Amino acid sequence: MAISVFELFKIGIGPSSSHTVGPMRAALKFATSLQAGKLLAQTQTIKAELFGSLGATGKGHGSDKAVILGLEGEAPEQIDPTSIETRLTRIRTQGQLFLLGKKAIAFCEPEHLLFHWQNLPFHPNGMRFSAYNTAYEAIATQVYYSVGGGFIINEEDIRGGPIQPDDIPLPYRFRSAAQLIELCEQNNLSISQLMWENEKCWHSEEEVRQGLLHIWEVMQACVRNGWKHEGILPGGLKVKRRAPALYRQLSAQPESSLDDPLAIIDWVNLYAIAVNEENAAGGRVVTAPTNGAAGIIPAVLHYYDRFCSDAKKDVPLAQTKAEGRRQKAEGIDADTQTTRSDRIVSFLLTAGAIGILYKENASISGADVGCQGEVGVACSMAAGALTEVLGGTLKQVENAAEIAMEHHLGLTCDPVGGLVQIPCIERNAMGAIKAINASRIALRGDGRHIVSLDKVIATMRMTGADMHSKYKETARGGLAANVIQC
Ligand code: SF4
Repeated sequence: MAISVFELFKIGIGPSSSHTVGPMRAALKFATSLQAGKLLAQTQTIKAELFGSLGATGKGHGSDKAVILGLEGEAPEQIDPTSIETRLTRIRTQGQLFLLGKKAIAFCEPEHLLFHWQNLPFHPNGMRFSAYNTAYEAIATQVYYSVGGGFIINEEDIRGGPIQPDDIPLPYRFRSAAQLIELCEQNNLSISQLMWENEKCWHSEEEVRQGLLHIWEVMQACVRNGWKHEGILPGGLKVKRRAPALYRQLSAQPESSLDDPLAIIDWVNLYAIAVNEENAAGGRVVTAPTNGAAGIIPAVLHYYDRFCSDAKKDVPLAQTKAEGRRQKAEGIDADTQTTRSDRIVSFLLTAGAIGILYKENASISGADVGCQGEVGVACSMAAGALTEVLGGTLKQVENAAEIAMEHHLGLTCDPVGGLVQIPCIERNAMGAIKAINASRIALRGDGRHIVSLDKVIATMRMTGADMHSKYKETARGGLAANVIQC
């Protein structure tokens, strides 16, 4: 299936793309299907059942809230995160919700929202919704799967194979990193330029540009919210938010303290921690490509925007050091203007291309392949994107993305208490630093490397398939099994 960059970068709410964003979208889709089938008036109640990883860790990940609000007609990108608790209190107190905001139906959580540990056949994140009439006869049933990054599919989508071909005529269709690079070479394009051409199949140029800049604005707002909001994260682990104190400490230091060669690391850590604390608190975040790993790409993009000198200039393309290097290496003779915003757009497009490779050839779901599919993929996307905007060649971009994943292979998903807090928040800070390092290693080389990005993606998929289910977002293994909760 052709995937747009806007499907990888989605504005939503925390704490989980597969467990919060996906279930909310599925519940909304089911409610909308009842309306389309003219069944709204007959519906007296709905039963929602969550299976597998959703059953095991759904409560910690806010799947219950997401389903309820999705049935009320909310979408992750539109809901006001500050309104959620009041609405849930009203629904829980009254024992009823407003289906699509239109029809009052009975909804008593212990009876109508059930969590099962067993899996449905296709994917560990299964959901079954059933609507009942006054005689408690089922009038509609639908099964959905939340397959990572907020993507959902239903059983019809799966018939004949999980990925249905579509007929969107992308000018540069790629299915592997090797193909992506070959297409770029043949057409004298960077990865971001190739993605730009593909995106124009769905949107106008203005929509692509403004859409991506809006994504960047939401990422920046998320960082600011993270360092503003004090307190303890919800869920019972009593994890204290660290971003506000860290922000105060770092901002109190004079700019000259950046002479400490490692001071920048503190800022990168702060950006990632701020985003992931917002995510853990159910705030507004951008899936990048998932919520659990939402801090890495914003942290690396903040790093580029603030600390890399080329990012600040609005100069002719050929005059930036980085672009000049890339053009020289790739024989490109361009004389266009590049602005700071252009390079933000390029960063997100390149990151998107790399994310698509993982989505199509492996998985971006922690329930499917462990944390290598979330933090590992985000790190790989960020490393490749940073390398392109810093002037890396195509081979260096591929190398950076490959290095970043190579050193996340086998990373398990073991959230303590089923909450996206420990180890997830710090893991994003580590992932952001690794992405920057992967990019630096690649930029110091000549692009030649032994392990290709395609090979590392295939290895990630196979490692995920061999991984025991207790390490795949079930909170039954690893740290989740060894850290005593009090
Ligand atoms: S451990 Fe990784 S995959 Fe699992 S919830 Fe945390 S960030 Fe997501």
